[in-house]
Amino acid sequence: MTRWVISLGALAGIVLAFRRWDHVNTTTVALALLLLILVLAAEWGLRYALVCSVLATACYNFFFLPPIGTFTVADPQNWLTLFAFLATSVIASRLSHRARSEAQQARARQHELEVLFRLSRELLRTENVGDLLHSVPSTIASIVGSRGCAVYLLEGARLFQAGYDHTKEVERPHFQQLAETLPGAHTEGSEIQVPLRTGVRPRGLILITGAVLSTQAAEAIGDLVSVTIDRVQALEKVARNEAAKESERLRNLIIDSITHELRTPLTSIKGSATALLTGDLNDEGRRELLTIIDEESDRLDKLVSEAVEVAQLDTQQVHLTFLRVGLAALVERTRGTCSWVENDHDLRVVVPPDLAIKGDPNFLQKVVCNLLENAAKYSAAGSPITVTGEQKDRTVHLSVADHGVGIDADEQHLIFERFYRARNHGDRISGTGMGLAISRAIVEAHGGELSVLSQPGQGSVFTCAFPAGEEKGRTD
Ligand code: ADP
Repeated sequence: MTRWVISLGALAGIVLAFRRWDHVNTTTVALALLLLILVLAAEWGLRYALVCSVLATACYNFFFLPPIGTFTVADPQNWLTLFAFLATSVIASRLSHRARSEAQQARARQHELEVLFRLSRELLRTENVGDLLHSVPSTIASIVGSRGCAVYLLEGARLFQAGYDHTKEVERPHFQQLAETLPGAHTEGSEIQVPLRTGVRPRGLILITGAVLSTQAAEAIGDLVSVTIDRVQALEKVARNEAAKESERLRNLIIDSITHELRTPLTSIKGSATALLTGDLNDEGRRELLTIIDEESDRLDKLVSEAVEVAQLDTQQVHLTFLRVGLAALVERTRGTCSWVENDHDLRVVVPPDLAIKGDPNFLQKVVCNLLENAAKYSAAGSPITVTGEQKDRTVHLSVADHGVGIDADEQHLIFERFYRARNHGDRISGTGMGLAISRAIVEAHGGELSVLSQPGQGSVFTCAFPAGEEKGRTD
């Protein structure tokens, strides 16, 4: 209404202003009226401009073309002027209106493109289906500027929503039918309904309330969400497969290690028993052989318990229980389990008390124990062994350094392979060549890396690099 009053008022104003002016040039009047019509078409649309064109033509004729004060036109040339004025104002109005609506459309399209771009960026950030589905409604609502958004999935009849105060729950029964039958994006009142599909099969529904979106943009949002769900599901599947492979590898390593270790005590027991049966031994010799049998059967018993544990792991896969593990406490506990290392060597521990990682304390203890025993085995008695812990940026390092025999450069990467033993140590020092392979598998299952720096004759430093997380929660 206001726009009509202003438009007609402006027209009347121009006519009155020129009427008061003596000897006014009719061309000036026509141009002034035309200018008003163009402004109206560009700013408020075609309706105002067309009505004003007709009224302006009538006023122009009545007030400015002789005979003035009548609608009669005396000079035939003035008919032409009048017609030219009307035609120009109508055509100009249409052109200016078209330019205005095209500019509006271009702005709307640009806005929708920006919306789709921002949405795709937001959706790409998530790599977990649960998080994705919970965050999608609020992400869409905030990016398209809607009052509320709901995502309904046919699989499990799940509903995720943002901005509705859960009022959509009551409509849930209606969603399944809608998701299965809706052919494309559809606007119902202030609500845009978008079908979600996997290929051609219906997958669910998106509802967006209180936003202005073209059908294409709404359907593009549906496709984007559907593709993102597929992508995240595929990522999760890959991660699950990788975890399963990692567990499988770890389990195989442990089985190999145990089979290998079973041979050593069995050989000793067999040898001692044969000597007892066949040999002519005095009491002391017999006692010595019986002690060997006793100790080795204890070792066998331990190995068999481990084999049973592995058999259980075999059916259920290796399961790591992740807790907050304080490294100083871990090293302290490990010292207790392999105390012979300390008896033979000068063990120094430099680990800050608050340094911690997320991991399975039992598996980590196996790694530290193996590194400490190796450091002791492959260095001269009495030489120092240093355990150091430190955090560098987002990585926590735990190193075991010795001043032992060291490892040749060409063998440094091979010692992590199963059963590999360095050429120089193989015969002199007992071992299975399994410890480092198991340790590396455990460290990698924690998302870390086990590496070595070594110089023959000088010593070796084995370092476990673990990702530093936010170690909240239960401490081991
Ligand atoms: P094992 O010690 O039972 O032979 P490991 O897998 O623990 O098996 O180690 C593999 C090989 O790596 C060892 O045989 C040894 O040659 C070499 N090695 C491991 N730790 C050290 C070390 N601290 N210093 C020198 N050589 C080492």
